[in-house]
Amino acid sequence: MEHPDKPAGEERQLNFLEEIIEKDLADGKCKEIQTRFPPEPNGYLHIGHAKSICLNFGLAQKYGGKTNLRFDDTNPVKEGEEYVDSIKEDIQWLGFHWAKECYASDYFDQLYEWAVVLIKKGLAYVDDQTQEEIRMNRGTISTPGKNSPWRNRSIEENLVLFEEMKAGKYKDGEKVLRAKIDMSANNILLRDPLMYRIIHTSHQHTGDKWCIYPMYDFAHGECDSIEHVTHSICTLEFDVHRPLYDWFIRSLGIFPSHQYEFARLNLTYTLMSKRKLLELVRNKYVSGWDDPRMPTICGLRRRGYTPESVRNFAESVGVAKRDNLIDISRLENSVREDLNKRSNRYMAVIDPIKVIVDNWEEGKVEYFDAPMNPADPEGAQRRVPFAREIFIERKDFMENAPKSYHRLKPDGEVRFKYSYIIKCVGVIKDAAGNVTELHCTYDPTSKPGTAPWRSVKGTIHWVACDYAKPAEVRLFERLFTLEDMGSIPEGVDYKTYLNPDSLVVKTAYAEPDLMKDTMDIAVQFERTGYFYRDPDTTPEKLVLNRTVSLKDSFRLP
Ligand code: ATP
Ligand code: MG
Repeated sequence: MEHPDKPAGEERQLNFLEEIIEKDLADGKCKEIQTRFPPEPNGYLHIGHAKSICLNFGLAQKYGGKTNLRFDDTNPVKEGEEYVDSIKEDIQWLGFHWAKECYASDYFDQLYEWAVVLIKKGLAYVDDQTQEEIRMNRGTISTPGKNSPWRNRSIEENLVLFEEMKAGKYKDGEKVLRAKIDMSANNILLRDPLMYRIIHTSHQHTGDKWCIYPMYDFAHGECDSIEHVTHSICTLEFDVHRPLYDWFIRSLGIFPSHQYEFARLNLTYTLMSKRKLLELVRNKYVSGWDDPRMPTICGLRRRGYTPESVRNFAESVGVAKRDNLIDISRLENSVREDLNKRSNRYMAVIDPIKVIVDNWEEGKVEYFDAPMNPADPEGAQRRVPFAREIFIERKDFMENAPKSYHRLKPDGEVRFKYSYIIKCVGVIKDAAGNVTELHCTYDPTSKPGTAPWRSVKGTIHWVACDYAKPAEVRLFERLFTLEDMGSIPEGVDYKTYLNPDSLVVKTAYAEPDLMKDTMDIAVQFERTGYFYRDPDTTPEKLVLNRTVSLKDSFRLP
């Protein structure tokens, strides 16, 4: 049954998180939804994070709640301010606003106090075992772990030692604080997990105040609880952490945040590990985090993706409970769909072959009006000059063409879009037999707007040579050649699958009005694709990134 008063976008079924939230609201389990997006500031955000952002912010928006941006800066070693700034910029670009900007480090005092509470309850202890010993004694999936010889220290001794850890009395790795849970638990994460470790490194926010830092599992749920996060949404690999998340909250008796897991976004031909993306940047396989071939949000932005297209994509892939691999063409389709509605049109020739219109006077020019967007034929127009010498795309001419070929061929006719019908009357070749120039005639009676309208099978794009404006175009292909980058076996370097042809640089010859375009969003080169101005553009040189090609660039419109 359709609901006539519901907008089209509302038609889809609720995803499992929406179902949970609606039930929690209906049951009065929570009054207002609070979510958070918790990036670790150790890299730039990628399309997978965009999915998580759209989900966290989107759910809060839909149910009238709030979302915090919380930087998970519990690890002082590899985090940096550059990343914090880029993360904020990317979320805002996607169109979302956080209620509060928080840092896990804001809560270090509270976390420390709670660790003390757990010690006092006999639920945490200081362990002197080395990292290696702790690992050895943890047991395996099939064998239980062994209790630490330090497990039964008195509460008093633990309090003193933990205080001394904080005061800097011990070296890195000399002691750790562990939760006292169960060394024979089936879930290995419950075998007395680490809560604090000693790292004598200064932290970008807390400076040298701390030399002990909380582990993810102790910090995350407690931070959620402090912020009264009602629905803490994370990716599937954290489902085994949930019992621990709950154990800490229960043991402390604090605000009961709950964790829910969904399947992370995986895309074909794409890597999303921050560590590997960083390696690509550091070793200059790409020009930077914002290289338009990168799956980063800043890369997509530079390439010409719109926030709408990324949000629509995130919405369309839905929320899965099981890991899956999404075809990257869905992301590409999403930007095509959005730009198709909104982008300005121009003609540009990228692989030119020159046409001489023999029966057109030398020096004469005629301008044709063409709509900026075919969906709005009465809207803004551009003026396209027609003259004696014209560039067409090399692939739009074929000397020995089959009958089904409706572009230009010897003695054949084609319409130059918005302009005259042209007939090919001569083919000039170089010594090697390559076509260098075509001679044509135009039919003066075929001018658009003059009756009767004569139609021919093919229409191609074209640009008058003397009026054409050159632009550098960067044609991108997928960065990797392997469909499932997650399937690379251990020991095989993912860089083996880098696509050597992922960037091809060419010159496009465009109609002159392109130079007046403010290019707030990408433009369409008719029959070719969408192109967006790159920041490498200078007053002398326009540089354009191909956002995406048109779906059926080989078929005529
Ligand atoms: P990486 O493993 O590449 O370092 P991460 O998951 O550690 O990524 P975080 O900064 O911790 O990166 O991620 C912030 C949030 O984004 C987390 O809640 C995480 O679950 C989510 N996230 C990260 N990658 C994806 C993905 N591919 N799909 C959906 N959500 C993701
Ligand atoms: Mg993480």
